[in-house]
Amino acid sequence: MAEPAHGSRPLILLTNDDGVHARGLHLLRQAALAVGDVVIVAPTREQSAQSHAITLDRPLRHIEHEKDVHSIDGTPADCVYLALYERRFLPRKPDIVLSGINAGYNLGTSVFYSGTIAAAREAALRGIPALAFSAPPDVDLAPLQTIATDLTRAFAQSALHAATTPLLNVNFPNGPCQGVRVTRVGRQVYDERVIPRIDPNGREYFWIGGRVTEGNEPEGTDAHAVMLGYVSVTPLALESTNVEHWETAGQVANALSHEGDKSWLER
Ligand code: MN
Repeated sequence: MAEPAHGSRPLILLTNDDGVHARGLHLLRQAALAVGDVVIVAPTREQSAQSHAITLDRPLRHIEHEKDVHSIDGTPADCVYLALYERRFLPRKPDIVLSGINAGYNLGTSVFYSGTIAAAREAALRGIPALAFSAPPDVDLAPLQTIATDLTRAFAQSALHAATTPLLNVNFPNGPCQGVRVTRVGRQVYDERVIPRIDPNGREYFWIGGRVTEGNEPEGTDAHAVMLGYVSVTPLALESTNVEHWETAGQVANALSHEGDKSWLER
């Protein structure tokens, strides 16, 4: 990434999945303003657990709430996409993208469901270093502001020298921070709960989604670190190929590559 012009502050795009009015977003804005210029482009309404969805089948409405605070009635990934490719939102390409602070942990398998992380991933996929922040839902956010500033400043610095685009997932612990640990993604398995109900018209419907099942998270994972009171910093991969299953893929591919039976080729 190019060094920002001498004397200029980094330009920071800020988004989240809890919506433009969320407390965590505005605390992170204050934290980021100590590092650079901040433009918010966030969802108009809560978009938690929307993962990396983008909206292709309806128009996206925009509200300018105040200077440099915008909302889009779409997903977190929509917000990042629009902020980067519709010129009115940002004066130039941002130096880093921040997402959060989410009201709730994003640990373990949550990386697949989280809109907070997906917004950061959308930026990283497009070559912009991105940092996602999450905290327990009812934690006092105020003490986290200076930590978020320090992490953002360090990230903006180190991203300048990274060979590829970094994507980091930060989780704050519940209560006072004992320190910071670099971690890997744990499992954080959720209960497979389904609650069937009957609506007032007599039709059945379902609620899905359970609580985290208390498990023994191994040492070195994100969930283990926050359980011990540490801030967890996890580097996430953008490369999805799993070489462990190269052989499985080969066995599947073999079904179509037996000598003597090439009839499928002509179809
Ligand atoms: Mn959320």
